[in-house]
Amino acid sequence: MRYSEMFLPTIREVPSDAESVSHQLMIRAGMIRKLTGGIYSYLPLGYRVIRKVEQIIREEMNRAGAQEVFMPAVQPAELWQESGRWDMYGKELLRFKDRHMREFCIGPTHEEVVTDLVRNEIKTYRQLPRNLYQIQTKFRDEIRPRFGVMRCREFGMKDAYSFDADWPGADKSYDKMFEAYSRIFTRCGMKFRAVEADTGNIGGSFSHEFMVMAETGEDAVIFCSNPGCGYAANLEKAEIAGPESPGAAEAMKPLEEVHTPDVRTIEEVCAFLGVKAEDIVKTLIFVCDGKPAAVLVRGDHEINEAKLRSYLKCDSLELAADDVVLNVTGSPKGFAGAIGVKADVVADYSLMHMKNFVMGGNREDYHVRNANLERDFRVKAFADLRFATPLDRCARCGSPFEFARGIEVGHIFKLGTKYSKAMKAVYLDSDGHEQYMVMGCYGIGIGRTAAACIEQNHDDKGIIWPMSVAPYHVIITPVNVNDSGLAKASEEVYGALLARGLEVILDDRDERAGVKFNDADLIGIPLRVTIGPKRLAEGKVEVRERKSGETKVLAVPAALDYITDAFRREVDIKCFE
Ligand code: ATP
Ligand code: MG
Repeated sequence: MRYSEMFLPTIREVPSDAESVSHQLMIRAGMIRKLTGGIYSYLPLGYRVIRKVEQIIREEMNRAGAQEVFMPAVQPAELWQESGRWDMYGKELLRFKDRHMREFCIGPTHEEVVTDLVRNEIKTYRQLPRNLYQIQTKFRDEIRPRFGVMRCREFGMKDAYSFDADWPGADKSYDKMFEAYSRIFTRCGMKFRAVEADTGNIGGSFSHEFMVMAETGEDAVIFCSNPGCGYAANLEKAEIAGPESPGAAEAMKPLEEVHTPDVRTIEEVCAFLGVKAEDIVKTLIFVCDGKPAAVLVRGDHEINEAKLRSYLKCDSLELAADDVVLNVTGSPKGFAGAIGVKADVVADYSLMHMKNFVMGGNREDYHVRNANLERDFRVKAFADLRFATPLDRCARCGSPFEFARGIEVGHIFKLGTKYSKAMKAVYLDSDGHEQYMVMGCYGIGIGRTAAACIEQNHDDKGIIWPMSVAPYHVIITPVNVNDSGLAKASEEVYGALLARGLEVILDDRDERAGVKFNDADLIGIPLRVTIGPKRLAEGKVEVRERKSGETKVLAVPAALDYITDAFRREVDIKCFE
């Protein structure tokens, strides 16, 4: 493509409303433009990258035996009512009515639609297993869209759904997707880790997220430092070693009520009473499927709602409103405690052996000192309910944890029979008995993958595309287009590279060489061929690698071979062979 004819609006200044590097660079490199909050257009350069990512995904999904379909974005409410998600999904689900006042949504995901499709067509075990995938637009009305296409509202997703006759079969399907995902992200030129994850809105029994490691990532992940163990999980999910053995027995002191006017937060209580955060027990009142629950964690710990939700097995979980807190504890917020609370009490494991702690007094402006379990209140159950901290150890092997940040680009789930039971997706087994299909689902965010790739591959000049997803492989930069010799040589190199099947930009703009170099660096084309008068007089050109900055001066035929080799070497990434 000739640069002079391209729709490629690059920008020198860093856009003020773009918080992350990938968002800034996607705008500056003319890849995307915002239409409205969380909704973006892809411009030609950006869309080429999207198509490359999609192509890699297609090849690997097909290799793994999945088959491509294309399902509607608009979905009838009835299917979501059948699965039970119409009421549960919350405000991320964009709902609307048609002219007949029938309710619909724009699909944030497609479990319902695909389950409906398959239950109508698959009747016997002979037709299983099947894995169907699509690359299609999703809509999620995110509360806080940000980082450009990384967390937006309308986005492209590859979503796949596997249907098996039994659980071992479903495990196999899951493992195949795990391997396909590993190949996909390797081929996209990214460093990633698969970590155990919470199953959230989608549900099911088990899941892995594929995390691209980046300091700017929204997700916190932990790894066990013992390579022999290999435990890795999203912080939301990370299991913590159970209760420690009791320390030296401390005698219980008499319970004491203390006046703590307007002292509410842990920091305020610490300062006022001269205690450490780990000597305090925090009481949080939640409403779980309409019923209040008091949840206790140590003052220096944070409650993990994902763990709490899965422990309590509730569909809806939220912090109690002021009036509920008042009703359950008898006091306004900030002074809740477990003594006399009108709710079931569940506590984090770390409380099991605590003695003589401080907690809210269930009375405005009061706390208690020397509270003790059993003597002063009853705990219904102890469980792992908090986020891991750097002081915690791996639940599997006892080694220290390492913390890192990542971007979730893919997520694979073992769904089991959640949807097949709710929507009656059954088949006849070899004995003629009706059985539920066992499902899995597997997503990859296309735009987020491209953005994550930029987070990992850039410098202060711009993007550094891996060859496999680069919008073009080579850019040819004649330093002066008004020099007819240079222009002619550039055309020849351009034609020769195109003939070799490469994707090439010829920067034929009448601009200073410096401007062209800056644009080439900004848009991140892996190889640049500079054609200038001095070298050309010797029949040579300069080939520069964007990533290393390494420059080679080569005769034109050698340059063509060098570029072709570099392309092959990089695109032909060997995964797991
Ligand atoms: P997150 O926790 O980041 O909201 P999720 O768990 O809701 O993600 P899934 O339902 O598993 O995501 O969706 C599959 C994939 O779709 C994700 O791994 C991610 O790559 C992509 N994705 C999800 N939400 C968005 C979004 N708002 N914008 C862009 N991509 C998204
Ligand atoms: Mg989400």
